[in-house]
Amino acid sequence: MVVGNWKMFFGPDPSRLLGLDAVVCPPFTRLADCVAAGLTTFAQNVHWDGEGAYTGEISPPMLLALGVTGSLVGHSERRQYFGESDETVGLRARGALNAGLRVVACVGETIEERRSGKTEHVLRRQLSVLEAHPNLVLAYEPVWAIGTGHTATPEVAQAAHAYIKSILDLPVLYGGSVKPDNAASLFAQPDVDGALVGGASLDIDSFTAICRAATRIPS
Ligand code: PEP
Repeated sequence: MVVGNWKMFFGPDPSRLLGLDAVVCPPFTRLADCVAAGLTTFAQNVHWDGEGAYTGEISPPMLLALGVTGSLVGHSERRQYFGESDETVGLRARGALNAGLRVVACVGETIEERRSGKTEHVLRRQLSVLEAHPNLVLAYEPVWAIGTGHTATPEVAQAAHAYIKSILDLPVLYGGSVKPDNAASLFAQPDVDGALVGGASLDIDSFTAICRAATRIPS
């Protein structure tokens, strides 16, 4: 699985991505375009309730009605800038899964947490709100690697993925400065099951190259 997180950017023209076995997560205003283009389309966030007085939120049934089939939850930018907590991440994941959406739940430590030896503690805490589900995939996204160009080494990613799977036995995507030139070595790790891609998913050639690396198709 390779997921392109377009964040608050427009992203490439979705019609040009047709045919790739990949997921895109556009801003809410482009969800319908991506669905119409035949892409597997996930939201970047989702509320846990079907409806209610929650200004600025979007519910699982609203996404399903658009043809959206899944959502990210717990992205570190949500945690860092919008007060997302482990508890609300757990609620969002459960609400979305119960409603029939697929979910990619993001976990990962900050550089301070890694330097002070707290990585495993943080991952365990973030995972404690999640339960195994056939439609749940995890994404290990070390905060220090997101948008920084400092990709985790394949060995660091592998160790974190193995630890995550020892707690919750689910597929784990790696996210954090995945680019065409480092994707293959990450995908070669036994516990790296795909990628969550931010910046490189905004460029059609880069995203295509990463998808090819995931499927072992030569470019
Ligand atoms: C992300 O947004 O989840 C991400 C990993 O971003 P980037 O690939 O740009 O580091």
